[in-house]
Amino acid sequence: MILDGARGTVDDLLAGLDDALEEAELPALLPAVAHLTGDVDILEPGLRASGGSQVVGQAPQGGLSPEAQERARLLAGSSLKQWVEAGRPQPAHTDVSMLEILRFVAGDVDADQLPLLYHQLGLEQPGEVPVGTPAPEGFRAAVIGAGMSGIAASRHLRRAGIGHVVLERHDEVGGVWIENTYPGVRLDTSNFCYSYSFAQRDAWEDYYSPGDAVATYLREVADDLGIRDDIRFSTTVRSAAYDEKGGRWRLELSTPTGPDTLWADAIISAVGQLNTPLFPRIPGIDSFAGDSWHTAEWRHDVDLVGKRVAVIGTGASAFQVIPRIAPAVASLTIFQRTPPWVVPTPTYTQKLRPGLRWLFAMIPGYQRWYRFVQFWTNVEGRRRFALVDPTWDKPGSISADSESLRQALIAQLERDYEGRPDLLAKMTPDYPPYAKRMLRDDGTWAATLRRDDVDVVTERVVAITPNGVRTAGGDEVEVDVIIYGTGFTASNFLSTIQVTGRDGVDLHRRWGDDARAYAGITVPEFPNLFLLYGPNTNLVVNGSIVFFSEAEVEYVTSCLGHLFERGLTAMEPTEEALADYYTRLDEASAGTAYGVAGVTSWYKSRSGRVTQNWPLSTLEFWDMTRAPRPEHYRFR
Ligand code: NAP
Repeated sequence: MILDGARGTVDDLLAGLDDALEEAELPALLPAVAHLTGDVDILEPGLRASGGSQVVGQAPQGGLSPEAQERARLLAGSSLKQWVEAGRPQPAHTDVSMLEILRFVAGDVDADQLPLLYHQLGLEQPGEVPVGTPAPEGFRAAVIGAGMSGIAASRHLRRAGIGHVVLERHDEVGGVWIENTYPGVRLDTSNFCYSYSFAQRDAWEDYYSPGDAVATYLREVADDLGIRDDIRFSTTVRSAAYDEKGGRWRLELSTPTGPDTLWADAIISAVGQLNTPLFPRIPGIDSFAGDSWHTAEWRHDVDLVGKRVAVIGTGASAFQVIPRIAPAVASLTIFQRTPPWVVPTPTYTQKLRPGLRWLFAMIPGYQRWYRFVQFWTNVEGRRRFALVDPTWDKPGSISADSESLRQALIAQLERDYEGRPDLLAKMTPDYPPYAKRMLRDDGTWAATLRRDDVDVVTERVVAITPNGVRTAGGDEVEVDVIIYGTGFTASNFLSTIQVTGRDGVDLHRRWGDDARAYAGITVPEFPNLFLLYGPNTNLVVNGSIVFFSEAEVEYVTSCLGHLFERGLTAMEPTEEALADYYTRLDEASAGTAYGVAGVTSWYKSRSGRVTQNWPLSTLEFWDMTRAPRPEHYRFR
């Protein structure tokens, strides 16, 4: 069930309300109830969340005192009961009351921010009528990929009446969520922010869903939107070449019935960043006599019970695998090059509180406000921890904020590894928080590393032998299975497709090691090629990746609308616009934790330039993607 709405009878609601309110998340409940009932008087200033910003995580209930919490429950409860007595009418909101409610959550927002706020609530703005010049007869776009971004693209193109086909190499939608089936795979960002604003769900079971629940969500969205008819499954795009004469793209495909050719007026790439496995260049890697595989290509046919297993890497994927396989295997040796920073997250594997789930189901709109509060708290809230203070010179941190975060995280590590100075030393990063992806733990990771049958080796791996893994000191660890949690070739954007633009320009030759796209979306010399989750659109501390995907898709439909309106056929950004854009972006990246020299991660290309992340504010990305700036484009 994707859409929210009052369910259950009035009797159910009244019988369960008081108990459920005990488990409500109050910073979201008051605005939700005010929105539903129109009773904005319940938004008393003393009941505003204080921002809840602790150095690590959020203060429970937004930092409200126990007395304030009690009053919030009382006001929300009586307002809801009156709404029930009135026959549970639909909410009627005006811009004025919405602004008041939004200000209760988000502080001093301006009326011109309302479109963003409505967007994140997944609500149409009152009086908003989508207008646009229809696509010319026969216009067709090709979307490559039916993962998170491709589904959003298809939905938006449909709404805009733009004919398109989605080309998907797998036989199902879901992208990385159907590729990664390793034990323990789950979201490490909240479900709520990792779901579309236009397909919100009030029936999540977890705070951080397991992988199959995310895959199910994406399948359900595709079904509910009816976009499957536009998808050609089991179809791989091999190449795309721009035909200048006809002003169209020619795509060469591999399909279940053999090679095929498809012509498209525009290409929207939704191929993702994290799906071509990266195996390390370790001598002898092919000589191993046992089974070995990458986390993204999990071998479910090999039973790990009783086996001696090596895992190489401690990034996000290995971090989820290790606690799940450790209890089953005979021994587990983890080869770690760099320890991750770990954010303590007690709810990481917990089910949502039953009262909260009940309220999501019974109170229309509550889930939207819960999601919105999360979005707003995260939108720029943690960015300060990742920004370099040029006057700061303490190693391991980049500013006073960064240092306070570092100390809070180290305090947790000291609790986690009490009595194990060996592990504490191995697991304490020497680089600033947010220089690499931070991971979440509810205590399971640390408990796993403390097991007698688990060993963390930090000596450099120099070779894979037929029997196992050899380290720089000459030791060889004999194992039956090697699992590579060594990540993806993220900075090789679109690496599986040969793309040729105007004048025979090859996209990958143009890019070399450093992919660049204007707004992360368009590339000079490549007319009507639009990239989703392209260069410098990954998020580290602010916003959400799904929000960015939606913003990118909206930009694409706005670009196409611009063409249709003016009777134009194609657009590409100017070299100057791209250069100016990157002057700003590269400068901003250099001032972030993940841009600092000396730390390697998939956020950077081989040259050390940050090619993956968005270093500016989320609101800037939103503003930039509302409409193309014609002076930054060449049109055909
Ligand atoms: P990753 O973050 O790139 O981690 C790769 C790991 O392999 C690192 O620990 C790396 O060490 C290590 N490594 C690489 N080569 C090595 C070598 N020769 N010897 C020893 N260690 C080596 O890859 P990932 O864990 O697959 O995660 C990639 C991204 O996917 C994540 O950052 C995240 O965005 C996404 N992801 C998300 C989720 C989720 O939402 N739940 C789950 C999994 C992945 P160094 O750090 O020293 O390079």
